[in-house]
Amino acid sequence: MPKIAERMSAIPFSGIRKMFEEVTRREKLGQKIIHLEIGRPDFDTPLHIKEAAKKAIDGGNVHYSSNYGIPELREAIAKKLKQDNGLSFDPASEIVVTVGANEAVLIAMMGLLNPGDEVLIPDPCWLHYFYCAQMAGAIPVSVPLREENGFNPDITDFRSRLTPKTRMIVINTPNNPTGVVFGRKVLEELAQLAREKDLFVISDEIYEKMVYDDSRHDSIGSFPGMRDRTITINGFSKIYAMDGWRLGYVAAPKEILSALIRIHQYTTVCATTFAQWGAVEALNGPQTEAEKMVKEFDRRRNLVYEALQEMPGIQVLKPRGAFYIFPNIKALKITPEELAAYLLDNAQVAVVPGTSLGEYGGEFIRISYANSYDNLKTAMERMKEAIRRLKK
Ligand code: PMP
Repeated sequence: MPKIAERMSAIPFSGIRKMFEEVTRREKLGQKIIHLEIGRPDFDTPLHIKEAAKKAIDGGNVHYSSNYGIPELREAIAKKLKQDNGLSFDPASEIVVTVGANEAVLIAMMGLLNPGDEVLIPDPCWLHYFYCAQMAGAIPVSVPLREENGFNPDITDFRSRLTPKTRMIVINTPNNPTGVVFGRKVLEELAQLAREKDLFVISDEIYEKMVYDDSRHDSIGSFPGMRDRTITINGFSKIYAMDGWRLGYVAAPKEILSALIRIHQYTTVCATTFAQWGAVEALNGPQTEAEKMVKEFDRRRNLVYEALQEMPGIQVLKPRGAFYIFPNIKALKITPEELAAYLLDNAQVAVVPGTSLGEYGGEFIRISYANSYDNLKTAMERMKEAIRRLKK
């Protein structure tokens, strides 16, 4: 058999997916496992969005759309970016609708990076950034998000990793997996660095609406001098519970977008046309369901945070955004993988070991609270009991 590409040796299967598959295998054997490992809302897509897509399919919207996406959706995205984020983009040439934010990250890296270019990526993180950079022939460079800083990036960590090859910074706020919402000051420092060293910035803002307490989300692309170098990425999977619809988008200046659109053109052509009509309704229609979801996530966040605080050997910061919590388990004196396997066997609870989320995840596990309040309550009780036994 011919050999597969050399680049694949640097691209493993996703650790989160592996856990998900192991859980599915056990479920087929009849085990009742509570899923705290997967990063998708447990809610259904709001009905008015589904109705809009149904209407679109019945109305014959079953053909290719423009590579950029249907004009109505690009208009709605441009309006949203202006209102919510203070970003001005021309819907005709500066926005592309993608097959999820996943594709958005890939086309940004493929379109903007040369082989050997270095990309600074806050770590722990959603590892997709690493592997997309590698698929583009670039080199991902981890920059630690330190627990002692509340997982906020430290600009000195970025500066100390600069080389003449550095070409891009990735920002993800609100953050998966730590739940941190990057402060305005550090975003300003990162913007300053990007301007000074002439770097691209990918800003993945998919959790932007999921912020709690007094936290607020800022879009780095709206900062002075940042429009020309920022690739803003967002999507519909999280806030509208539309992950299976596979819809995201990129907004960037025309010159940048013209590179990205060519990759998009030769891979996916366009996002599913009738799904895009659902997204138009998601943005232009009532936001009540989304607001309800965020309120419910907040309630769950409090539940999980309080429960974890009571567990022996667990240290936890209160997350301010997204729907993850990232406890430190070092005091338990086992690895995150061992703890994840132990919890699966002894508490029937699935979590993600921090080691699947980067070089700096080695003392943590990620818990997603995108599950029902009751399930989370049961999961926390079972975890507490299992960890108590472990400590004996
Ligand atoms: N960005 C982040 C930070 C994510 O956590 C995820 C999903 N896990 C995505 C992007 C991907 O979203 P989509 O479903 O739009 O591809």
